[in-house]
Amino acid sequence: MTYFWLALAALVVAFLAVILIRTLRFRPKAAAPATASEAVVDEQKAIDDLAAMIRCKTVSYYEDERIDKAEFAKFRALLKTLYPTVFERCTYEEIGPSGVLFSLKGKSAEKPAVFMSHYDVVPVNEEQWSKPAFDGIVEDGVLWGRGTLDTKGTLLGTMEAAEQLLKGGFVPENDMYFAFAGDEEVAGKSQPIIVETLRARGVTPAIVVDEGGAVVEGIFPGVSEPCALVGIAEKGLMDAQFVIEGAGGHASAPPPHTGIGRLSRAVTRIEGKPFPRVLTKPVAEMFDTLGRRSSFVYRMIFANLWCFLPVLDGICKKSGGELNAMMRTTCAFTMAEGSKASNVLPPRARMVANLRVISGSTCEETLSALKGRLDDDGIQASIIHGTDPSKISETTGYGWEKLTAAIAETWPDTLISPYLMFAASDSRHYCAISDDVYRFSAMALSKEDRAGIHGNDERIATDKIVKTVQFYLRLMRSL
Ligand SMILES: [Zn+2]
Repeated sequence: MTYFWLALAALVVAFLAVILIRTLRFRPKAAAPATASEAVVDEQKAIDDLAAMIRCKTVSYYEDERIDKAEFAKFRALLKTLYPTVFERCTYEEIGPSGVLFSLKGKSAEKPAVFMSHYDVVPVNEEQWSKPAFDGIVEDGVLWGRGTLDTKGTLLGTMEAAEQLLKGGFVPENDMYFAFAGDEEVAGKSQPIIVETLRARGVTPAIVVDEGGAVVEGIFPGVSEPCALVGIAEKGLMDAQFVIEGAGGHASAPPPHTGIGRLSRAVTRIEGKPFPRVLTKPVAEMFDTLGRRSSFVYRMIFANLWCFLPVLDGICKKSGGELNAMMRTTCAFTMAEGSKASNVLPPRARMVANLRVISGSTCEETLSALKGRLDDDGIQASIIHGTDPSKISETTGYGWEKLTAAIAETWPDTLISPYLMFAASDSRHYCAISDDVYRFSAMALSKEDRAGIHGNDERIATDKIVKTVQFYLRLMRSL
């Protein structure tokens, strides 16, 4: 008996030793400190230009007749007046419903770069704003307006940097493309058509940069330093519906379960069995990068995922939220409808769920997994619309190195990590022609800033605009 206890004690000690040693060895990887190259920006021009862009009311709607096309034309005309050298040196084309494509010849066509952005914005609730959303007001070092963050700011960064470099006689080593859409917010056709155009011309981008992550704080457990998050993939997006067609009838003599009751049972079954955990490359690499910088307890967890992943997953499943969304397909029931009157049995009951599909899976696969959870043959489950998850981009090689070098130069002392985006962006179309698609909005954004994206009081501090331009200057010069 004593031997048994001794052996058990030895096992426990060995286990703890392994956990501890792995934790202590889980240190940040050494990175050479970046020496920032000079990047002089005409600050006033950059601020004035962005303010002028904000004054174009390029609001996207799903209903075509609500779109003020003149404002979109005004924006494109504005580009011509603000960036004459870019227009002079690049081939300019208007492609698809509202796409614009600038092509700049470099010394080689071998490693082309694409800088993406969109110049449409989502609508505003003006009465909930502290300042007008489309006046381009600058006050106390802050520029107010819809689109400052999403994402005329990055479009401005691209164009200011290009204008300045080209004015100085810059010829890039490789071809460059600036591809902007005016219908990103309504999942329009402009960028897909631009991608088809580039593909037909044999362009295989060695790097694509679009909006996405940013320089943010307080997003990873136990890490207080700012982190530059680069989206290397995005989850799929789908709406699914569950329908029961029934006989209807008066509610005074009902069956044991109405259509609503049966759908509710299905919802409970689906929520009760979350999708399985998948540790995808972007998330595994994020844990490996940021986990090393975390506080001791979290470092212990992330250094020993071989033993703690199920525990971490258990917590995620219970709490939901972002960490959970990084690790599995999520399903949120968002809409329900039954009969039109309280005393009428629903002849047709319907519930709708919004799902975010994890990398490696598909919408079809997700639907059949949902069907497997229903346990009710009377429920018709179908996809209303869906987009499969994007491909996962490389985190080594030319594109990644150039991008992270420009980030390190512009935001020194910032951790750089890949991550998985939950939102869908136009960049996913570029995965068809490139292995190196990166989603990074070159801005340092506080939690308060981020609340303005698609929300109220969207605005940006003017010193952040300057940093955005500096980032693009450094990246373009290096490509
Ligand atoms: Zn956007």
